[in-house]
Amino acid sequence: MIYFDNAATTKMDGEILEAMMNSMKNSWGNPSSEHSAGEKAKKLLEKSRTGILSSLGLPSWKLIATSGATESNNLALFGFLATHKKGHFITVKTEHKSILEPAEYLSENGFNATFLNVDSNGQIDIDEFRSAIRDDTVLLSFSFVNNETGIIQKNWREIVKIAHENGIAVHTDAVQAIGHVDVEWEQFDLITITAHKIGGPKGIGCLLLRPSVSLSPIIFGGGQENAIRGGTENVSGLYAFSLAVKKIVSDMRLAEIQQMKDFLKREIKQIVPNAVFNGVGCSIPHILSVTIPDFDSENLISELDFKGVCVSGGSACLNNENAFSHVIYSMTGSEKSARETMRISLCKENTLAECEEFARIFSAVICDFKKLRSA
Ligand code: PLP
Repeated sequence: MIYFDNAATTKMDGEILEAMMNSMKNSWGNPSSEHSAGEKAKKLLEKSRTGILSSLGLPSWKLIATSGATESNNLALFGFLATHKKGHFITVKTEHKSILEPAEYLSENGFNATFLNVDSNGQIDIDEFRSAIRDDTVLLSFSFVNNETGIIQKNWREIVKIAHENGIAVHTDAVQAIGHVDVEWEQFDLITITAHKIGGPKGIGCLLLRPSVSLSPIIFGGGQENAIRGGTENVSGLYAFSLAVKKIVSDMRLAEIQQMKDFLKREIKQIVPNAVFNGVGCSIPHILSVTIPDFDSENLISELDFKGVCVSGGSACLNNENAFSHVIYSMTGSEKSARETMRISLCKENTLAECEEFARIFSAVICDFKKLRSA
């Protein structure tokens, strides 16, 4: 099988899996217990917490462990806005649903929200952002790298600067950025990350907070995670996450991944000359978003899957039959393009040989569809 859907999830790293299983055998206590089994688990939990923060260059920050990025994004919006009781926040139309859905809920329940547009390259318009700012704007949330297109907000520094000049805290969903781009994360105020996109396990994520940022809890319980997120901590999950962050930031292999992406682009263009690559000049190496005109991505994906290749049509969360990519739609205004876009996402374990095999299979699939049409 050729697995080119690493933005949906990655296979767990073998060494990390083994270390995680050992930690489950050896540090299985409840970190809140006061006996030695509990203390051992607590020690591992705290070591993992400081490990993640120092790998990301944020040694003085706070880390709230969660069940993944969906929960972290919900916590960022609900938890931060609850400290303000009312007010206005800004986000972007191309965000992941775990931002858009809570944002829509909040905008119908006491808060005001602005959903910024993007241009055809997925970029926020700085002037539109400036004019969206109000006296009561307290939060801006935008993803550093879009999960469907791999597009980076090129002007992120200016956007963050404008927000801060206006007393607005900035949250970034950095799920697709960690380990794929080198950033001074301390520029932000709240950061969402998740383990299963970087070789770690599913069901563990974090919300990272600048020390001055306060949140209200959204899960009440036993007072864990500074009373922000109740529930017995996933000790071995956080441990595995800390190993995954350390491993990926110390060995990103961006040039190798970029080389594979460039190869795929050349091949796809030869096979489908009118293919459109989304986010040219502003996307990260590991995600390639391509619109194949007149080929419904669902059909292409299932045919590729049948031949042993896993890719996706935008996000793995688009599980509704009628759904189309809201990201491509926001960029192009075309529902047709949004249905014809495929996401190929790589990781450092992929190889050029797999890319060559992909090109061969992709060419055969396109050929078969064309034959079927002309029959
Ligand atoms: N944010 C982005 C940008 C993502 O790509 C994903 C995963 O698809 C999520 C949030 C949700 O992550 P999780 O599966 O950890 O809840």
